[in-house]
Amino acid sequence: MRIVKVNTNTPYDILIERGLINNVGGLVKSVTSATKITVITDTNVEKLYAERIVDSLKTEGFDTSLFVFEAGEKSKTLSTISRMYDHMAEFKMSRKDIVVALGGGVTGDMAGFAAATYMRGIDFVQIPTSLLAQVDSSVGGKTGVDIPQGKNLVGAFHQPRLVIIDPDTLSTLPEYYINDGMAEVIKYGCIKDEELFRTLEKQNALDIIEDIIETCVSIKRDVVNRDEKERGERMLLNFGHTLGHSLEKIYNFEGLSHGQAVAIGMVMITNAGERAGLTKKGTADKITALCKKYNLPVSDSADIGRIAAECTSDKKSSAGSVSFVLLDRIGSAFTRKTPLSDVLSFIK
Ligand code: MG
Repeated sequence: MRIVKVNTNTPYDILIERGLINNVGGLVKSVTSATKITVITDTNVEKLYAERIVDSLKTEGFDTSLFVFEAGEKSKTLSTISRMYDHMAEFKMSRKDIVVALGGGVTGDMAGFAAATYMRGIDFVQIPTSLLAQVDSSVGGKTGVDIPQGKNLVGAFHQPRLVIIDPDTLSTLPEYYINDGMAEVIKYGCIKDEELFRTLEKQNALDIIEDIIETCVSIKRDVVNRDEKERGERMLLNFGHTLGHSLEKIYNFEGLSHGQAVAIGMVMITNAGERAGLTKKGTADKITALCKKYNLPVSDSADIGRIAAECTSDKKSSAGSVSFVLLDRIGSAFTRKTPLSDVLSFIK
């Protein structure tokens, strides 16, 4: 088994191994003295894994209940969180009891937020089942929900007690969702790891997925260890995300997946960097080729003026400028503040 140790304020392990999902009870037992566990999942993942996991927890003696919500980003609301609180309170969970988040990013964000706030914070264990959640959202402790004014506008930093990654869960994912996660994998290569980038060029990622997941979570772990609250280096993880997020907003979070939007954003911002003489020539071509290999789009017909307008209203823009993450070359990134009035000409 691969173990990635995360040394945030409350240290925890990320375990990676095929078939791990069958040992959840014992693994959870090793990190908690809880008597009650609420497993939180969505209607898609429930069908695949909920029974197995609840049984495994019960076998270890945990009093276990299951909370299921309708799959999809539309459920990522305070009213779903409120129903989670009702469930946990009626199940009489105490401060030493725990939540298990079983599913993709939406599940992890919401179950994590419910755990962060129920009784001022109880422990939770993450079992991410999508590639995106495994390589990205399971590390870093960001939890939260959407409100009508914006995505993830309400949330908390809350580190999991343990993260259990079973790459076998990816075999039940449609290819679209694998590619969605691959955009974040490519991002890690772009900002921090040229060798990872070359590996993705040469090999099929799914053939060596345990290595890939371990590499990605290790990169994110290192960044988050140095910058838990996103004041500096952690911003590099937003490579491709500022423009990507603008595209997602333009399409109301329906036309493009997160990964597709990030892929387009990475290519666009790298082209801008090359034009401005900040990025080594040919870098955007390399990213384009790699994104295409994993069936990710690399351009979009949305109006560039609208993209610029959206990113100047992003929650990550502040004090009259947008912080773009740029590459000087594959494997090395930096941030650069662009005044709001220059955003359009910079990305055009
Ligand atoms: Mg992302």
